[in-house]
Amino acid sequence: MKRLLPGATIGVLGGGQLGRMLLYEAHRMGYEVHILDPDPDCPSAKRADHYIEAPFADAAAAVRLAEGCDVVTLETEHIPADVLDEVARVAPLHPGADVLRNIQDRLAQRRFLAEHDLPQPRFAAVDGPDSLREALAEVGHPAVLKSRRGGYDGKGQARIRSPEEAQQAWAEVGVPAVLEAFVPFDKEVSVLLARGVDGTIAIWPLAENVHRDGVLHTTRAPAAVPIELAKEAEHIAIRTIEALGHVGVAAVEMFVADDTLLINEVAPRTHNSGHYTLGAATTSQFEQHLRAVCGLALGDPTLTRPAAMVNLLGDLWTGGPDWEGVLRHPDARLHLYGKRHARPGRKMGHILVMADDSGRALERAEAMHDILATAGTQTTGPEAKTAR
Ligand code: AMP
Repeated sequence: MKRLLPGATIGVLGGGQLGRMLLYEAHRMGYEVHILDPDPDCPSAKRADHYIEAPFADAAAAVRLAEGCDVVTLETEHIPADVLDEVARVAPLHPGADVLRNIQDRLAQRRFLAEHDLPQPRFAAVDGPDSLREALAEVGHPAVLKSRRGGYDGKGQARIRSPEEAQQAWAEVGVPAVLEAFVPFDKEVSVLLARGVDGTIAIWPLAENVHRDGVLHTTRAPAAVPIELAKEAEHIAIRTIEALGHVGVAAVEMFVADDTLLINEVAPRTHNSGHYTLGAATTSQFEQHLRAVCGLALGDPTLTRPAAMVNLLGDLWTGGPDWEGVLRHPDARLHLYGKRHARPGRKMGHILVMADDSGRALERAEAMHDILATAGTQTTGPEAKTAR
């Protein structure tokens, strides 16, 4: 593939916050960006050089996007792989359709990781109530039932603490699923890394994540783990993306349990746990992704300062967030994604804080989140205010 320099046009399937931050970095570097997304109110539509409103399953629309672009990439793994096959006939595509084929179905992903001997929780396929019983006997409990497709942020999942809860879990998930052993983890970490067209790899320092109700709440980098564990996590992540033949940024999320690492999931795209790189690293994940898909040399992933990020979910919008209360702190870096409607659990923005160590940065980030959470509970207005 020829190297694509500033002036070239990047097509992005998906126009959420990841697409928007990619777009901002691309514009800074002199690229044009065309976006396809089903929602004309999505964070990127109004800022793109060209926007196509179409469902992700619309292959003809994706081909139209590709026809106007020098390379096509994506910000979500939920683009049907068959659509990506069509796109790849028209323009270079990174990551390739087969990467997505191995990732977007949770069962396929688990099988792929097993084939490559990568560490992960025990799992079994579930097609209905009978096979759930068999799967529970195989995997044991507690366990987590997850829909094979379309799930994110803990959606389409149900915990099974005892066999009696199986029926209820199946009623909640109710589609082809995968049962995974519940991992009593000490920590959750993620390796954010990039692989170039020529196979070069660049890795940011290990990030440590805390989820609330299945949704990422905070990330701190570097993670507070022994160096050997961080090295082992990097090694597992490199093996994973090399096995996939991935090009671009990826995140490999892992559980740490008894100093052992198990892969939770692989995202072949920029990732929420990598937002801190936009501000706290020499090269952000978004610039790096562009460099990779444009066939350029990868940028320097060095952390310029220890950092922490806290997500701002729609729940905070109940009374109108107290931005002044946050922004009066000189160390607060506020990112809002321009989403018109706040809903509980919806990612509306994040705050980045840098400090001399990531533990301190995390404390500050949590404190700023608490300012917003407290302000939200002090007012009783039933209407969610808009993010703009
Ligand atoms: P997921 O959407 O699969 O990444 O799940 C969201 C969050 O749910 C994870 O980050 C964990 O905090 C929790 N979770 C998911 N699967 C498991 C598991 N097998 N064992 C323990 N916790 C889990």
